Amino acid sequence: MQRIDHPLLSPSLGSHKTLTSFHFGQPGRGRKIVIQASLHAEELPGMLVAHHLRPLLEAFDAAGQIHGEVVLVPVANPIGLAQRLDHKPMGRFELDSSENFNRHYPDLAAAVAPVVIGQLGADAQANVGLVRRAMRDDLQQWTPATELQSLRRTLLLLAFDADFMLDLHCDCEGVLHFYTEEACWPHLRELAHFLGAEAILLAKSSGNRPIDECLSGAWWQLADRLKASGRDVPLPQACCSTTIELRGERDVSHAWAATDAQAIVRWLQFVGVLACQQPPEVPAPRCPATPLAGSETLKAPGPGIVVFAAEVGQMLQAGELVAEIIDPLANTTQRVTAGVAGVFYARIRDRYITAGGELGKIAGAQAFRSGELLGA
Ligand SMILES: [Zn+2]
Repeated sequence: MQRIDHPLLSPSLGSHKTLTSFHFGQPGRGRKIVIQASLHAEELPGMLVAHHLRPLLEAFDAAGQIHGEVVLVPVANPIGLAQRLDHKPMGRFELDSSENFNRHYPDLAAAVAPVVIGQLGADAQANVGLVRRAMRDDLQQWTPATELQSLRRTLLLLAFDADFMLDLHCDCEGVLHFYTEEACWPHLRELAHFLGAEAILLAKSSGNRPIDECLSGAWWQLADRLKASGRDVPLPQACCSTTIELRGERDVSHAWAATDAQAIVRWLQFVGVLACQQPPEVPAPRCPATPLAGSETLKAPGPGIVVFAAEVGQMLQAGELVAEIIDPLANTTQRVTAGVAGVFYARIRDRYITAGGELGKIAGAQAFRSGELLGA
């Protein structure tokens, strides 16, 4: 194992943060897998999973049983992790710019298309190498102006050439759920099943460029550009990435983290990166994959105290009561019901809501939304 400390741009005199990555196996041989945790810095279950994964990966590495490379980034957002306001963690948005730490990643397809489209040929693997070199050149030429940009650039330089990138997040309260792009799903379905995902949300692209879609979206977007330009050359989906929501913010326990780390190890064995006697059996799916555009976000009709009637993980029918919003001044109770049938996969943590605030999400089977599909 090799530890690498990557200094971030210093935003202020006397202040300097560092991103740390741990590298297992042998780069350039076999597949490359990047696993990062807590890019939204108050989402800690993934950080604990990384802590449990590390000794397991060290043991495989020491025994020479890694075919390829695994890169582990347990603390993907040292900037957000240090942000606090009024004694509360503030790890989702950078306080200086108000930007979400997991949005606004660059459009790599647009950046490399002018360089590569004329050079791609009949050899799919050669094309992958060409595109990756162009991505690396583009990222290396990027001179970040801010600490946040330097964090984004450093994370992308670690992961741009990964075959798989797992971005470990969590919801406020929720069951384990899984976001990925449609182009990646055929290559990632086993991972969702090893983890026991209870909701799987697919989108061609969910918008606002989170890091996972920056990395994997570049490949299908380049393939689309090739098709549109009439070029008939092979370009595989060379990076598949996913955002894995490891339940809720308070679901930080050794039991959950050990379970999730073991699930990831079994998947790494399944894809041939970690050695095993025989590939582990893929567990039966716990849910079907559903469109992200079919996920209903329930909103409060007015302000008040939130009393949930539905627990996360519960299967709901349309019309079923999810929560009551209680106004003790007007002495009213407003009912919030499910608009679609599906699993109630996530809900808010606070129990007071303002008008129009989001209460929770249901994974419906039919797409009905369009535009930007992710929340703030
Ligand atoms: Zn998150």
